[in-house]
Amino acid sequence: MKPILHPRLTNDVYGDPGLQVEFLYEKRALLFDLGDISAIPNGTLLKVTDVFVSHTHIDHFIGFDHLLRIVFGRGKIIRLYGPENFIANVEGKLAGFTWNLVDKYAESICLEVVEVREDHLLRARFRAIDRFKRSDESREPFVDGLLLEEPSFSVRTAILEHRVPCLGFAVKESFHVNVRKDRLEASEFSSGSWLNELKQFIFEGKPDDFPIRIPVNGGKEVKEMALGPLKEDLIFMSPGQKIAYVTDTVYNEANKTRIVDLISEADIFFCESPFLAEEAERGAERRHLTSRQAGLLAGEAGVKHLETFHYSPKHKGCEAQLQREAQDAFREVLDAKEQPLSGI
Ligand SMILES: [Zn+2]
Ligand SMILES: [Zn+2]
Repeated sequence: MKPILHPRLTNDVYGDPGLQVEFLYEKRALLFDLGDISAIPNGTLLKVTDVFVSHTHIDHFIGFDHLLRIVFGRGKIIRLYGPENFIANVEGKLAGFTWNLVDKYAESICLEVVEVREDHLLRARFRAIDRFKRSDESREPFVDGLLLEEPSFSVRTAILEHRVPCLGFAVKESFHVNVRKDRLEASEFSSGSWLNELKQFIFEGKPDDFPIRIPVNGGKEVKEMALGPLKEDLIFMSPGQKIAYVTDTVYNEANKTRIVDLISEADIFFCESPFLAEEAERGAERRHLTSRQAGLLAGEAGVKHLETFHYSPKHKGCEAQLQREAQDAFREVLDAKEQPLSGI
């Protein structure tokens, strides 16, 4: 299975936390957290459509200015999602600059900000052409943690505790489109980039009569066929990828339930682990996870792969230990699940 979503941590494990997810067939990227994002190439920042901010502690939000600087003037709409007070936080950031000339230009950027509350979402718009004045405020239902839903993927969130509300996120591809290689080889069609286009059209939900141009006869000729029959013949669907991101939260029963539910069976789970296994008490005090707790959560949720980050700078040089403790706890839970039940 060729993955569509390509996630990577923005910085090394001691740097500001953040994850970028790029799409295989689209010029599009999602960002999770906006700490120091200077390591992200401008080309990638220009592909960003949606930004998911866990909370606005400085190491998760100082990159807002950098992003705005790069995308300003590009005529884009960027959606930003964050926890309680997020609209005021964005407004405060924007109020720190002078915008007296922006109304002389055509629409140069619009920020759509979504604030997540326990049982509803608040939405507001900040348009450059209006000197970033808050506008179009609305209140919407918040159902089943859903923040964003498109034909090809969705993003869900859970409100976690970090002395302030802090959001965890999971992005899920709706389904994965696979080509039946045996049927392709038996057909008159040549392989090539048209297969990627075909997959993209399926994701976009194009109708069955949508025409597809297919190279045949070794690419010397082109044949046109409708999407529906092609799909039936050449394509099969499998479950889509799931990527989860959790940072800055405490290990307690309420959080555990919310996290395990959010990240359940993710292909990759990115989880903070600032503290060593032996520092559970300190972690609880500071409302952060230890390496072992990250592993326990991953195991409990049955994820396929765990990657930890946001290590405390106090533990420079302990990278291997932090990783080992997390992976050991992860395996411990998975092994216990596989053990057959002993007799009563
Ligand atoms: Zn942090
Ligand atoms: Zn924090």
